Amino acid sequence: RSPIIAIDGPAGAGKSTVTRRVAAALGLLHLDTGAMYRAFTWLVLNSQVSLDDEARIAELVSQADLQLSLSDHPDVPVRVNLNGEDITQLIRTPLVTRKVSAIAAQKAVRQKLLEQQQQWGEKGGLVAEGRDIGTHVFPNAELKIFLTASVGERARRRQREMVTQNQETIDFEQLQKEIQERDVYDSNRSIAPMRKAPDAIELVTDGLTIEQVIEKIVQLYRV
Ligand code: C5P
Repeated sequence: RSPIIAIDGPAGAGKSTVTRRVAAALGLLHLDTGAMYRAFTWLVLNSQVSLDDEARIAELVSQADLQLSLSDHPDVPVRVNLNGEDITQLIRTPLVTRKVSAIAAQKAVRQKLLEQQQQWGEKGGLVAEGRDIGTHVFPNAELKIFLTASVGERARRRQREMVTQNQETIDFEQLQKEIQERDVYDSNRSIAPMRKAPDAIELVTDGLTIEQVIEKIVQLYRV
């Protein structure tokens, strides 16, 4: 049996850590689909192609060789290799974060990544995180979680994460504004917008520790 657990939700809800640790606890693979959209965003930003030139972007992504592999470091969600180059760190910059939603809204980008994500489902049991996992990528997942928290809480977590990962930090108000803008954009695009699947369980994580959230999901899976 190859069970699939879908974890969706807005930016900074803690999906990345939770997904990785739930996967480890249950002996399943972990798939970070946000990293894939970030990788293509990095590619476009480094190719002198305009972010709204959908035809050129479609061409770029059709030729791209994107490989994800397990990370051996607790603060690194996944290792990302694009066209032979290790871009693990480069996809987490504030610039990529600001531009990723515009790339993730494009049809050719989503089509290519949807196929690649669904292939992961054939490798074996999987915990996959993103925005459209329960609604589009794995609509038949055994367990669907919609993980969320207040915007203030999410901005605080992102800020802590940036510090632990030694990234350039940004002002709290600015971070909160950018998180909200990204959620609005991701929820309103025409293809596979961010949604809680009708059969997903919503977990609001304000005031919960990471351990409590993980335990809750593992329990939900085991019943
Ligand atoms: O989760 P993360 O912040 O890395 O996701 C980056 C962006 O990738 C999201 O803001 C969204 O635009 C896009 N994304 C998506 N569908 C997914 C996962 C991520 O559109 N399944």
